[in-house]
Amino acid sequence: MDENSHEMISNLKAYLEYLKGMGIVPLPVAENIPEKVIRSETLTLAEVRKELGDCKRCKLHRTRRTIVFGEGNEKATLMFIGEGPGYDEDVQGRPFVGKAGQLLTKIIQSINLSREEVYIANIIKCRPPQNRNPEPDEIESCSPFLMKQITSIHPKIICALGTFSAQTLLKTDAKITALRGKLYDLEGVKVIPTYHPAFLLRNPERKREVWEDMKKIVEWLSNNNIA
Ligand code: SF4
Repeated sequence: MDENSHEMISNLKAYLEYLKGMGIVPLPVAENIPEKVIRSETLTLAEVRKELGDCKRCKLHRTRRTIVFGEGNEKATLMFIGEGPGYDEDVQGRPFVGKAGQLLTKIIQSINLSREEVYIANIIKCRPPQNRNPEPDEIESCSPFLMKQITSIHPKIICALGTFSAQTLLKTDAKITALRGKLYDLEGVKVIPTYHPAFLLRNPERKREVWEDMKKIVEWLSNNNIA
């Protein structure tokens, strides 16, 4: 439910209370509107995409070619969340399709899954100019849509790829070197940070650590009887 709906319900409730006070009955005014009515309803991914629209909520809309929403299994058990689109992603409108994306595909395949079986998204959906790091206001504008995607997909575990993904999801300033390989909780969903594939392309010697992290994901899924 968006802010406007919230406000509408609140105004309606106040009006009904007012009528009740005026002696206009019977009007069914609950003491408290049930929490489940007030709480945001889970949207489908198509609804989240529709709500995002031709987004201009942050300055990145000026330089992007396409919005890279995310793709994969709408009911995925495992989600991979990276930082933001690069050149190839901006051109194709799909996440992780450049060189780093090809490496991510291999990482996914290394645990006997395919890209179609997981869901892949980013913290921000538009490419920053010259692939610079996302800025705090951009993350703030864009990440609520990612959160809606997570709520919609309801994965069991999220693999956060790189610093910005891990820091945003876990609301921390800690470095990826300190965060990686450990399991965290995000409102009931497990999060395991690891290095971003683009970092691995520059530092191939760190691939072993990512492999260790992937094994942890498989182990956690198996320990929790999740196929
Ligand atoms: S990065 Fe996100 S918030 Fe900014 S314009 Fe793109 S879709 Fe909108």
